[in-house]
Amino acid sequence: MAQQFSSEDSGSRSIHAHVPFSAQPQISDIKPNYDYIILGAGSAGCIVAARLAAAFPYLSILLVEAGDSISPSNETVWNPREWALISKDRNLEWGYESTFQRNLSGRRIPMGRGKGMGGCSIHNAMVYVRGGAKGFNNWAAMGNQGWDYNSVVPYFQNVENQMYITVASSDPFIAAMTNACANLGIPYNPDYNQYVDQVCTSPFQYAISANQRRETTDSVFLAAQFPNLDIATETLIKKIVVENLTAKAVILHQADGEKEISANREIILTAGAIGSAHTLMLSGIGNQRELSQFGILPVTNLPGVGQNFQDDLYVTTLFKSKQQMPDQPYGLMGTVIFANSPTNNLGLGTDIECSLASGSMIGIGLTYPSYLIYPNIQLLRSRGTVTLSSADPTIAPIIDPNYLSAPGDMENCLQALQLARTIGANSALSAWFEEEVMPGPQWDNMLEEYIRQTAGTCYHYAGTCKMGIDDMAVVAPDLRVRGVSNLRVIDSSIIPQTVSGNTAAATMMIADKGSSLVIAGM
Ligand SMILES: Cc1cc2nc3c(=O)[nH]c(=O)nc-3n(C[C@H](O)[C@H](O)[C@H](O)COP(=O)(O)OP(=O)(O)OC[C@H]3O[C@@H](n4cnc5c(N)ncnc54)[C@H](O)[C@@H]3O)c2cc1C
Repeated sequence: MAQQFSSEDSGSRSIHAHVPFSAQPQISDIKPNYDYIILGAGSAGCIVAARLAAAFPYLSILLVEAGDSISPSNETVWNPREWALISKDRNLEWGYESTFQRNLSGRRIPMGRGKGMGGCSIHNAMVYVRGGAKGFNNWAAMGNQGWDYNSVVPYFQNVENQMYITVASSDPFIAAMTNACANLGIPYNPDYNQYVDQVCTSPFQYAISANQRRETTDSVFLAAQFPNLDIATETLIKKIVVENLTAKAVILHQADGEKEISANREIILTAGAIGSAHTLMLSGIGNQRELSQFGILPVTNLPGVGQNFQDDLYVTTLFKSKQQMPDQPYGLMGTVIFANSPTNNLGLGTDIECSLASGSMIGIGLTYPSYLIYPNIQLLRSRGTVTLSSADPTIAPIIDPNYLSAPGDMENCLQALQLARTIGANSALSAWFEEEVMPGPQWDNMLEEYIRQTAGTCYHYAGTCKMGIDDMAVVAPDLRVRGVSNLRVIDSSIIPQTVSGNTAAATMMIADKGSSLVIAGM
């Protein structure tokens, strides 16, 4: 059944010149016209707003967000130890679910998505991984000139110059884990972001400030006051108004009414891999045959909108420990393992990224000393969809990741699971390893079934408004929507093929590079 949300769920609505918690005027206070309108204040949207506001002090900019600002006293958001609790907060979460996944024992997978100033950066595990060079070089090889690794590095650096990246410290368990990896031919690397595409174990890097607080794209990039930037929170984007194949205006909804706001220059969609595809379809941009079934007036036929949905999966291994685990100050443990499954033959970089946790961490809460190794399986070949379930923008779209549907994906998951089991029981961990609890020997002959019953999303959704030059591309390499003037998409949805790594850093790079394209008028 389709889910419904209400913009009245979490209290007040506001528009402010980025002064959090200022007076909260009505929708009538949003001006009728801006030079740029940015739709969605997530990992990408806050950066785009900050960059344009700084570059064009004489132009007016509106940033729109369905959720609210995050209270400075919300410890669950700002304290990195508590990250596993955030997705349970209905006020900070869209509450999406996948369709029944036939290759995951028919389960519906909760598809977490942050709602509020900062989007998923208020909500994610804060892990900062640029991703492998081969993956970005592949984007360029797909026809996206200017998106190869060397070309995008300066934009990663712009992000890193502003956002404090904490390199995790070690402890006796991590030291033993590093030795276990070395025993298995996985070398130590002090900085995976400088030596991409390498099999290695390395200190994890986190978007956490020097004083141990979560950094969101709102708290970092919109910390400065921009008098030319209005931010409308608690405001739902209903649709983009397109006339003569030119994006002219947006229709916004608050609890007290609706308003059409026009844009003199550009409308920039930054609503994420689910929200951007959803908004384009509601606006008549997508597969015309499908949109006509919902009575949506056609604007342009772009059959790629909502297709090419990609995600990474994770599986769980749990080990009982002989001794208490060291305290863990981050959302996950301070180390990461990058590896290759034997069937990784795409040439796009490492396809296994193991994060670790201790059983006593908040949100896990095991009563006995224990450690977990979670291999993320990346570069999976399965492709899913985001499609409309209704022309009503308050009804969630249908999200079908179609997990494990492509040949080879299950094999990669099995190999990743086996690697984690081998690492967790390695002799270098003999002071810690007592027994494997999950999957445990009872699953030895049924590991495929174990994966079907337990694998979960890594929340690395991408690709639904893919950048490219082929018929299924939604945006061109300059991030303009094909066939519609004055409209761009700048967020994780434009990723044509996921890279080896998590998606937040790549999304922030896309936001910084995308902003530079807008500023240059390209
Ligand atoms: C639980 C979780 C953990 C994760 N952990 C990590 C991690 O540790 N490291 C990592 O690299 N990646 C991680 N990710 C993934 C990463 O955070 C995302 O890929 C990235 O933040 C996506 O950025 P975005 O700007 O494309 O979308 P988002 O950040 O989702 O931003 C979209 C914004 O648009 C708003 N919006 C959408 N639709 C509308 C509408 N109709 N009206 C108004 N506003 C709208 C949303 O509320 C949101 O604020 C995680 C994600 C989740 C959910």
